[in-house]
Amino acid sequence: MNDDLSRELLISIAGEYGTPVYVYNADKIKSQYDRLSRAFQKLPVRIFYAGKALTNINILRYIHSLGASVDCSSINEVRLALYGGIIPEHILYTSNSIPFSEIEEAQRLGVHINIDSLSALEKFGKRFGNSYPVGIRVRPNVMAGGNLQISTGHDKSKFGIPIDQFEKILKVVKKYNMHITLLHVHTGSGISDADLYMKAVNHLLDIVKYFPDLECVDLGGGFKVPFKEDDSEADVDLIAGEVKKAIDNIQTKVGKKLQLWIEPGKFLVSAAGYLIATTDVIKETSTVTFAGVDTGFNHLIRPMFYGAYHQILNLSNPEGQLKKYAVVGNICETDTFAWDRDIPEIREGDLIVFKNAGAYGFEMASNFNSRFRPPEVLVKDGEPILIRRRESLEDLVKNQIISNKI
Ligand code: PLP
Repeated sequence: MNDDLSRELLISIAGEYGTPVYVYNADKIKSQYDRLSRAFQKLPVRIFYAGKALTNINILRYIHSLGASVDCSSINEVRLALYGGIIPEHILYTSNSIPFSEIEEAQRLGVHINIDSLSALEKFGKRFGNSYPVGIRVRPNVMAGGNLQISTGHDKSKFGIPIDQFEKILKVVKKYNMHITLLHVHTGSGISDADLYMKAVNHLLDIVKYFPDLECVDLGGGFKVPFKEDDSEADVDLIAGEVKKAIDNIQTKVGKKLQLWIEPGKFLVSAAGYLIATTDVIKETSTVTFAGVDTGFNHLIRPMFYGAYHQILNLSNPEGQLKKYAVVGNICETDTFAWDRDIPEIREGDLIVFKNAGAYGFEMASNFNSRFRPPEVLVKDGEPILIRRRESLEDLVKNQIISNKI
């Protein structure tokens, strides 16, 4: 099994499909999936891949073939998963700030549902009473992982029903005799601190006893992956051990077994992904040397959006002398991928690669500046398979209406 794709293979894929191009390594996804399954093997765990990280249907199907179910953050992600042949029992829908009609649609489709607000809980209770099992997303009021932007469990986050409104939750549940089978918490991305994570988990477990129909606790995703060579990553074995202790303890208290659900996104697909680009312009100035590449925040927005660090390698000149570059995109905005980055000398025409581009890379891509979104290639059993073609002018104009009133 090859965890890291070779330089030669990446160069040949760029040659065949052009640049920019996203490439994913199935072996890496599998090894991450196996790592997580092993870590949690002492618990009755179900892994729901957080499809929002990368929804290409082939990726959903591949991860499903490994044994995972899918966590969806919009009704269209649910439809995509169904379209990909994944059955409702393997689909979980956790969305927020949505019209109730989307939740009704999810119910019609027969998938698992997590409710994110008191008002939606009230509507669900009124409409379905105890006829449809449902989950509740709780906001633990804990800041775990990353920063305000990527942490979702803190006391100013829009996600979930604040745990301090617990009495109100219970009131609605009792009023409609609701069948609450699942309690959910997701504290955000970038979790490496097991203690903080467990603080949020324990808040959730503290309220388990009030839900007699409860079958599962869903602890979300967010396990941190390394982006730099010396970066820390979530110790999933340690976290799983702590979770097991906490769940064992709560099971003893409530006198029944609980299933554990987790929702990893980045952990499964981040390191499996590469974005390859061509350097079109080298611009030397008195202060900075710019390497201008044929992509931008329209294809990989994480550095500009979150200040995320992506390693950048020069595929064409790996042994070149190290020089400092600002690697910039070709978008008419300041789209700097990296400032002051030491990279082996980049020449015009050189292929460079952004690593860790599998999660929230293509998925957050747009057509800004009327540029096409790149193709996606999945390498499976050593074979590059095209799983999305590059867009064309037709894609840009297909929904536009040229009006004869203009
Ligand atoms: N679950 C929920 C509810 C989420 O909102 C997210 C990410 O936004 C995830 C899981 C996956 O997070 P990550 O990709 O950091 O594992």
